[in-house]
Amino acid sequence: TLEELGEMVASASLCGLGQTSPNPVLTTLRHFREEYEAHIIDKKCPAAVCQGLFRTPCQHTCPVELDIPGYISLIKEGKFAEAYCLIKQRNPLPAICGRVCNHPCEFKCNRAQVDEPIAIKNLRRFVADYAFNLGVKYTPKIKERKKERIAIIGAGPAGLSAAWDLALEGYPVTVFEALPVAGGMLAVAIPDYRLPKNILRKEIQDIENLGVDIRLNTPVDDVESLLKDGYKAVFIATGAHKGAKAGIPGEDLAGVYDSI
Ligand code: SF4
Ligand code: SF4
Repeated sequence: TLEELGEMVASASLCGLGQTSPNPVLTTLRHFREEYEAHIIDKKCPAAVCQGLFRTPCQHTCPVELDIPGYISLIKEGKFAEAYCLIKQRNPLPAICGRVCNHPCEFKCNRAQVDEPIAIKNLRRFVADYAFNLGVKYTPKIKERKKERIAIIGAGPAGLSAAWDLALEGYPVTVFEALPVAGGMLAVAIPDYRLPKNILRKEIQDIENLGVDIRLNTPVDDVESLLKDGYKAVFIATGAHKGAKAGIPGEDLAGVYDSI
């Protein structure tokens, strides 16, 4: 590894120059290891500055790597339905993300160096709402049906997105949700004025239309039992329900609540 090579050069060198030359790499490895791993293993530059690793900084920064330049070009040509279908290919929840994503893509948009970033999130919300209001349907291609059943624990955004991707790959998917409603935090934590429930229901319905079986009021206590029931794989997408502590005096007093 890079680390072993640096240590070997430092220990095997006979002069001061050789002994100290690996220091920049070894020091930065110690303090910024995750940056090295992101670049070398994931081929991702979290700061979106290594241009050799991406096509556009916006797409590279988006967690689902949406084809942002592609859908903006289609919107520019007035092809809103086509833009919607292009987005749906990678993101089953465009109207939801168009409302609640914290849009890291816009923070890296090159256009900000000229005046202001492109309104990437709002443009997507616009085409998703256009499709919703006009009944535009996206019919994805489903690969050859497979027989291995997959279980997903949790019907929040991660579980729902995984269900969509796996269903497109042809797997029969069952989602087990402890609550009486699907959507996780989208359903129970985000208020209606930010994310109307009919939008949430519509995008979940699109996922169910692929054949995904969402079982509400069905908590899972034992992952092993799912494997024994014949599921070939289990994806645990139970979310992060606990707030992080700030580590300051008084945070455990009565009347102090976490904000997650
Ligand atoms: S706003 Fe949309 S394109 Fe931007 S990071 Fe979020 S999901 Fe990706
Ligand atoms: S201008 Fe902004 S939105 Fe357009 S491709 Fe460049 S980074 Fe992406």
